[in-house]
Amino acid sequence: MSKRRIHILALGGTIATRPDASGVMQMGAGADDLVAAVPALAGLADIEAETVSRVGSHSLSFDQIHALAAKIAASRADGVIVTQGTDTLEETGFLLDLLLRGDKPVIVTAAMRNPALTSPDGPGNLLAAVRVACDPWIRRHTRSLGVMAVMLDEVYAAADVIKAHPTRLDAFAAPQTGPLAALVEGRVVPLGLPVRDPIDIARNKLGKVAGRAQPVALLWLGLDEPGALLEAMLNAPDRLGYRGAVIGAMGGGHVPERMAGSVARLAAVLPTVVSPRAGGGPLLRHTYGGASAEIELRKAGLIWGGRLHPLKARVLLEACLRAGVSRDTIAEVFDAFG
Ligand code: GLU
Repeated sequence: MSKRRIHILALGGTIATRPDASGVMQMGAGADDLVAAVPALAGLADIEAETVSRVGSHSLSFDQIHALAAKIAASRADGVIVTQGTDTLEETGFLLDLLLRGDKPVIVTAAMRNPALTSPDGPGNLLAAVRVACDPWIRRHTRSLGVMAVMLDEVYAAADVIKAHPTRLDAFAAPQTGPLAALVEGRVVPLGLPVRDPIDIARNKLGKVAGRAQPVALLWLGLDEPGALLEAMLNAPDRLGYRGAVIGAMGGGHVPERMAGSVARLAAVLPTVVSPRAGGGPLLRHTYGGASAEIELRKAGLIWGGRLHPLKARVLLEACLRAGVSRDTIAEVFDAFG
């Protein structure tokens, strides 16, 4: 059988760093360099390598990922691998998942250990990502799997994967669902298919997500939060430029008592999503009473974020706002996440 054509799109990140004269790592390597570092790729697939940017993923924009999605959609390859920094992979992968139609495997990968270290993980991750893109089980289930992240010989759904540690080699996990597959001896061992209904609902309701960038504030609530930033947003006529907000709320959807009024007022002027600061897991809907808990907050117009991690809720809200859908449609989109 002829080899699959795999398109590698390099954005930057640790996987693409090089040491400067002082030994400090700088962005520099392009897609060709990444491919040259993994000779085994040539035996697996016909590789097309393209350098899209040379930036840390902490500096990527939503617009750049929209442009990347258009490039991926136009690619005639049998599969696409995106290499980037690890810092925002959990967000970029999810946005790609919302934007792409799933006609070919799309995999995001990266590196935790840079190329100057004794055991960098970038080459192994790139090789694993290409193996996954070519694997028959993955290709049979491409639409059901959606965009995937491959890190350290595990395959994750973009909607579920999070970066759970800033420096460890095994920094990535999908705490709610676990991985979709593992790579063992170069084989892809399937473990499960993700539940795609909420993503499909979001894509159907949003249609083409093509508008301008829509800044979304992420307000992560902690013990004794005074709420001054939220008040500043409420008092500014332009809401400080924000078009929506995600509240990283306590427990099953609670905010400090003294903030309940301002959270409700924010929901009246901006689409405001409540999301679990625990990092995911469904929120409560009708257990606790009082102005600062789920029953009253929902009545006050807060959009209930479901099981999504707050970072992913922010990505989804940005997409909703960009698509220009109504507040009710946004609520329906989030409702599907449980
Ligand atoms: N902060 C950089 C980035 O996300 C480096 C981190 C990494 O790639 O692991 O691109």
